[in-house]
Amino acid sequence: MSDPLRAIDVSLFDLETAASDDFYRHANGGWLDANPVPSEYPAWGAFQEVNDRNETLLHELFEDAVAADEPAGAVRRMVGDYYAAAMDESAIAAAGVSPLEAFLERIRAATSVADIRVLARDLHHVGASVFHSLGVSPDFEDSSAYLVYVGQGGQGLPERDYYTRADDRSAQLRDAYVLHIARQLGNLGDAESASRDAAGRILAFETRLAVASYTAEQMRDVQLTMNRHDVASLDELMPAFGLRSYVVELGVTLPTVNIDNAGFFTALETALGDTPIETLRDYLRWHLVSTYANALPPAFEEEAFDFYGRTLGGQQQMRPRWKRVLDAATQDIGELVAQLYVEAAFSEQAKMRCEEMVDHLLSAMGKAIRDAEWMTDQTRTEALKKLSGFTYKIGFPDEWRDYSGLSVVRVSYVENRMRCAAFEHDRQMGRLGQRVDAAEWAMPAHMVNAYYHPLLNEVVFPAGILQPPLFYADADDAVNYGAIGAVIGHEITHGFDDRGSRFDAVGALRDWWTEADRAEFDRRAQVLVEQFDGYEVADDLHVNGRLTLGENIADLGGLTIAFNALIEAIADGTEPIDGFTPEQRFFLAWATVWRMNYTDEYRRLLVNIDPHSPSRFRVNGPLANLSAFASAFGVPEPSPMVRDEKTRAQIW
Ligand SMILES: [Zn+2]
Repeated sequence: MSDPLRAIDVSLFDLETAASDDFYRHANGGWLDANPVPSEYPAWGAFQEVNDRNETLLHELFEDAVAADEPAGAVRRMVGDYYAAAMDESAIAAAGVSPLEAFLERIRAATSVADIRVLARDLHHVGASVFHSLGVSPDFEDSSAYLVYVGQGGQGLPERDYYTRADDRSAQLRDAYVLHIARQLGNLGDAESASRDAAGRILAFETRLAVASYTAEQMRDVQLTMNRHDVASLDELMPAFGLRSYVVELGVTLPTVNIDNAGFFTALETALGDTPIETLRDYLRWHLVSTYANALPPAFEEEAFDFYGRTLGGQQQMRPRWKRVLDAATQDIGELVAQLYVEAAFSEQAKMRCEEMVDHLLSAMGKAIRDAEWMTDQTRTEALKKLSGFTYKIGFPDEWRDYSGLSVVRVSYVENRMRCAAFEHDRQMGRLGQRVDAAEWAMPAHMVNAYYHPLLNEVVFPAGILQPPLFYADADDAVNYGAIGAVIGHEITHGFDDRGSRFDAVGALRDWWTEADRAEFDRRAQVLVEQFDGYEVADDLHVNGRLTLGENIADLGGLTIAFNALIEAIADGTEPIDGFTPEQRFFLAWATVWRMNYTDEYRRLLVNIDPHSPSRFRVNGPLANLSAFASAFGVPEPSPMVRDEKTRAQIW
């Protein structure tokens, strides 16, 4: 067996497939064949491998925390109590749905839309997002202040098109969804025929919300979805419901909120007005039980897995309980979990090496902006200003989130989940009117992920992702620039892509592009749209070039600037390692990061909702546009891995 941590490992290649035909397969074929998707996952790739190692470590830390004797309020005590309650399957089975009984009783007693409204408010408070979504983020016009974002939502299927598409597969999925709702209501004690009937009515109700919802593509459009509304005038959207006092009761203390899709709320008003109260009660019961299914007795959790995991995700079996609990803990008490992880797994050396790379990448981005022939000087000046405002966070927060006031008990998993959701809701609403906490992390530090925040103009790389094969604390530069370097570059270019370029250096929504530059950028982006539209995922399914545009631009740009940063970093020349030049190792490392097997179901789901392209195309798509790749591997033209000059995309 090959060493899983070895940076470039020829035994994981497929030497039968030429680099010039399919580089993804060439670099990963051995790995792909040897690593089918494990039955408890919807997909398996480098990110899951890293995640799996992180989880194994956290498992030990959690078990230790349960056994430790720490005072109330201590980090390990809270994690230990949360974990112990969540792992106590016999207590969970014995409690049944009694932790939800207070809500269920109130739902049964509801006789008017006014009653439903109060319940919706209280369900949001404990994390059940009925009817709509709700969040607090920096204000899109003033990123030093917070703003409440009230949005479309309230649907149990992943995206609005699942409700509206006419093909057979979509119709079958809706049938499966109705059956799933019916079974969950059956688990609550409903008779079979009644639960089937209720489920059908719930689907019809959610379909009305879906029809009024924007598509995933539209939701990426900041011009469309950033709309400030006076709270005082919200009753214009929902007069009978009383949206104004409703958001105030939710905790909104500011004079304005953002409404992504006003049409959705007027449609919701109409639907609430002419839907029988019985259906609204069933809808609330369904979402309550769906929100907490993983903390309820096995019948609920298995049913939720059957639909969301198996049918939608193609997972064969559930992941072990401790892993599912870890996911919930990450959501509920993420920065407590992260503290344990960082203490055990973070190296100062890794942090320093990463920070050095970010500095090189920012400087390469600056050069790319200065060299972009298509950009007018006016826009260039703004772009450089934006770049100089960039900040980054590497590893973990300087200061950990304060959880005092949150009570976690060893008694009830559901109650812990509700308390955590309520604590977070109150924390978010409690900060309205305060200055944005720029030091805060939007993601716990043990996560295998990263982000660019357009309003804070920062890139964030948690300790959890700074692991092989994304990052090797002691590998050569070529490997690190091709892997985490290009990923960091990807995040940096998000500041300048179709969405990021709508926000300026201080994160305000302000178009700083001249019309001519915007048109030229769009023209160049359109080349990528057409390239990715052409990629076939299944007989009846292609990549959506428009939905994935921002990520495809970021991949192409990230690779370009990371490659240039590498060339600068190794200016004095570097010998080949294991027969591969630094340039080759750079591109091989990129391919390694994206090696991934998917279940068919999950691949379909992602193509519908994920703004990232499937991993084969994340590798081959950008590389086919890069002459540096073609020359590194001596790829002849024309070939599948080199697009001809006329259709080659180039932005940065
Ligand atoms: Zn991205």
